Amino acid sequence: MNSSHRTWAEPWKIKMVEPIRMTTQAEREAAIAKAGYNTFLLEADDVYIDLLTDSGTSAMSDQQWSALMLGDESYAGSKSFYKLVEAVRDVYGYEELIPTHQGRGAEHILSQTLISEGDVVPGNMYFTTTRFHQEMAGGKFVDVILDEAHDPHSLHPFKGNIDMAKLRAVVDQHGAERVPYVSFETNVNMAGGQPVSLANMKEVYEYCSPLGILVMLDATRAAENAYFIQQREFGYHDQPLAQILREMTSYSDGATVSSKKDNLVNIGGFLAVRDPELARRARSMLVAFEGLHTYGGMSGRDMEALAAGIREMVQTDDHIRSRVGQVEYIGDALIKAGIPVIRPVGGHGVFLDAGTILDHVPQDQFPAQALAAAIYVDSGVRGMERGVVSAGRDPQTGENRHPNLELVRLTIPRRVYTQSHMDVTAESVIRVYEKRESISGLRFTYEPDTLRFFQARFEPVT
Ligand SMILES: *Cc1c(COP(=O)(O)O)cnc(C)c1O
Repeated sequence: MNSSHRTWAEPWKIKMVEPIRMTTQAEREAAIAKAGYNTFLLEADDVYIDLLTDSGTSAMSDQQWSALMLGDESYAGSKSFYKLVEAVRDVYGYEELIPTHQGRGAEHILSQTLISEGDVVPGNMYFTTTRFHQEMAGGKFVDVILDEAHDPHSLHPFKGNIDMAKLRAVVDQHGAERVPYVSFETNVNMAGGQPVSLANMKEVYEYCSPLGILVMLDATRAAENAYFIQQREFGYHDQPLAQILREMTSYSDGATVSSKKDNLVNIGGFLAVRDPELARRARSMLVAFEGLHTYGGMSGRDMEALAAGIREMVQTDDHIRSRVGQVEYIGDALIKAGIPVIRPVGGHGVFLDAGTILDHVPQDQFPAQALAAAIYVDSGVRGMERGVVSAGRDPQTGENRHPNLELVRLTIPRRVYTQSHMDVTAESVIRVYEKRESISGLRFTYEPDTLRFFQARFEPVT
């Protein structure tokens, strides 16, 4: 899909290094047992290459580190807040900014502001914290993503798209007045970082607006989505990412953003909307849960670094081209070796099809959880489960939800690892794949009530 045959390379050089500790296989076997076979419970010092998440793990630029010193720590009306407002207006085009401590803070405020008991919220595949807040506010999430998104073999270029027939059916069944908004995620995380097309965003917005249904983006990975539009959607090849991003947000009423991803900072997030009245209601929730409306859970220096990160993200296209290029690089290495991965390779990581790789392990014995643990033991590479453990239990029936996709996610932090780290990771996955028959399933020894994947503990089924 990339017309250029030249090797991509990082548009940065290394100014400071952070040494990482190498471990032995025996040390890693002890560490994973101590962590209850849950990679979330490993100590980072026991990890060699940390691909648990791309959330809050980016390397900041020298510009961003300098910006920290400019942080205005005034409790009210911080200069840094107004810089952040300007950056969000310029890059995303939303007038009203509600800063939060991170993405889920914004989801909480949005859900509590817009959802009433019994409402229905259609969305393009669930995200863990997003759905949790929608359900906590009394709403019911309904998945309206294309069927292709649930098919690890489909090569659809925009697997994140909303299926208009599914969306119409939800609205017809419940009535537009029971649908406060459509929860529309860009570069859909749980589908493997799969993009949505501009044509689809436009169609959804044009359908919803006359019905009084808001379109709220989860724009956490919108800039990476813009890159796929530039590469794959007719008519956008010559447009800069900054311009594509503005067209994307023009088909929405607002967005929640976890700034720990595309925005290149280690903490922060925001809700941004167009309607001043909606912003007013959200701000009155904000003071109770996050902080005053001019910091919302971030320090002045956090807001400075964030304002700089938002601009850097799309200042030129080089950053995202190399970011997604690195993900494609490791994806291609695995595909060449015959490893089943979600295709096309997405924007922020490679998703191993654990259901296929460990087809001898039943889904209720958590194949993806077991595979993530086995990769860690092999090489110290830490990935995470995205399958039946992450999907949780149905609140009505109490049964495990059984998602079609049973995946291990190897998520690539931005600007942190080199091509050689990607080579080591690919070698390890290939090694584990070759000895996959020897990997057994797991069972719970501790299961938390909510968002269980974070803190659950397991033991091998023997
Ligand atoms: C990370 C993420 C969130 C939650 O944001 P946090 O900053 O972790 O609270 C919400 N939506 C998507 C798509 C995400 O990737």
